[in-house]
Amino acid sequence: MSWEVVIGLEVHVQINSKTKAFCGCSTAFGAEPNSQTCPVCLGMPGQLPVLNHIAVDKTILTGLAINATINLESRFDRKNYFYPDLPKGYQITQFSVPLVDGGYLDIASNDGKKRIGITRIHMEEDAGKSMHEGLDAVSHIDLNRSGVPLMEVVSEPDMRSADEAIAYLKQLHQLIRFLDVSGGNMEKGQFRCDANVSVRQFGAPLGTRAELKNLNSFRFIKQGIEYEVIRQIELIEDGGTVVQETRLYDSVKGETRSMRSKEEAHDYRYFPEPDLPPLRISAEEVALIRAGMPELPPQLRQRFEEEYGLSAYDADVLTQTRDLATWYEQLVAAHPKDPKRCANWMANELLGRLNEQGQNISNAPIDAKTLAVLLDRIDDGTISGKIAKDVLDTMIKTGQSADQIIEEKGLKQVSDTGAIDALIKEIIEANPKQVEQYRGGRDKLFGFFVGQVMKATRGQANPSVVNTRLKALL
Ligand code: ADP
Ligand code: MG
Ligand code: ZN
Repeated sequence: MSWEVVIGLEVHVQINSKTKAFCGCSTAFGAEPNSQTCPVCLGMPGQLPVLNHIAVDKTILTGLAINATINLESRFDRKNYFYPDLPKGYQITQFSVPLVDGGYLDIASNDGKKRIGITRIHMEEDAGKSMHEGLDAVSHIDLNRSGVPLMEVVSEPDMRSADEAIAYLKQLHQLIRFLDVSGGNMEKGQFRCDANVSVRQFGAPLGTRAELKNLNSFRFIKQGIEYEVIRQIELIEDGGTVVQETRLYDSVKGETRSMRSKEEAHDYRYFPEPDLPPLRISAEEVALIRAGMPELPPQLRQRFEEEYGLSAYDADVLTQTRDLATWYEQLVAAHPKDPKRCANWMANELLGRLNEQGQNISNAPIDAKTLAVLLDRIDDGTISGKIAKDVLDTMIKTGQSADQIIEEKGLKQVSDTGAIDALIKEIIEANPKQVEQYRGGRDKLFGFFVGQVMKATRGQANPSVVNTRLKALL
């Protein structure tokens, strides 16, 4: 039998904001447990939430970037459940009317471009964190995360493989970082994904889904989905039925296991949050946010290909983050002659070296103007492209300019015809046999002479001058 895989994703994105969703407490990561709390986020009776408008604006910006509808009036609701990390006994979320409705992301899939529907984006607050590690018979609660603003991005069940799910997630991950809506750091829990997975016969109605939790890296998401698909297919083919349930991914065993069934599912008893009025946004506010939207990765990629003649690959590499794209355009501005060569040096030479040192473009020891001077020095014949790579090594290690390094190490290319001629004459005298063979027709020996000159000048002779002078003198 042939099975179709169906996946819908729910992604919790931590919104970049100095303060929490409904109080003024700091959201900084890694502080002393419970040091960033107040009566509001501790759930003390009688405290009233006040909505953080930065978080609202960033959710609207994300909605606009996925071509969604911004609801000018949305609601907050209480989602009730009991858990030690939730001091109020409910989470403030948006249930009946979310801020953002219906949008999409286009991903690259095996069959070309594919559109993945996004059902909604709603705002909510995060819960605290239970800590069990290293503790015996007790758990500790850290409420620093309680009340941190999140947006939940809910997709349509439009993905048909684990690879498509990853492609969608990477696209979303890139987008929220581009918009500066979130840091997207998965290790810090700023981008968390639950995957709903089902299988069906092609053309049949949707099958029963399992919701996978605890998928905290792209690799685990892929592994978890792939395991779950096989489990469901084998179960059905053996005569069983999939039950709707929440399953936990165990990254050590590489399998999913039941956490709670539909019967044990919480009844959240949603009701409108009485302490917050409906969220009203004006059309002017939305227009203002739209006007401030940066160029997004797909447009940027296209522009880099058209305007600078970059390959699709280079355009993709240089638009991974806004910092990369900005750095590249600064480089082109400082060395406008050859945008393709700029891309080449940045993508292949610079990023490769930074990567080896565990650095990235944001903390690179040199800026775009400094790299541009290095490219100028190749163009004006001061050094060869080969020597330039050694100079770049030193630039990255020391942060020095190309000119300083060329000067200090005496790397200036020798272009002086007189000096090169003298050298060539010495080499001709020292290698009579090769000269005779070359003159007798063994053209291949030309490379040998070039090599001799380069060796004698430690690679610093200007290759084109060496070529012409060798041809003349031989
Ligand atoms: P809940 O809030 O209970 O998790 P929703 O109906 O909001 O349920 O769906 C949540 C997610 O599950 C959405 O991303 C949706 O696309 C996905 N989904 C719904 N039905 C299926 C299915 N049969 N197979 C896979 N994913 C599904
Ligand atoms: Mg769900
Ligand atoms: Zn607080």
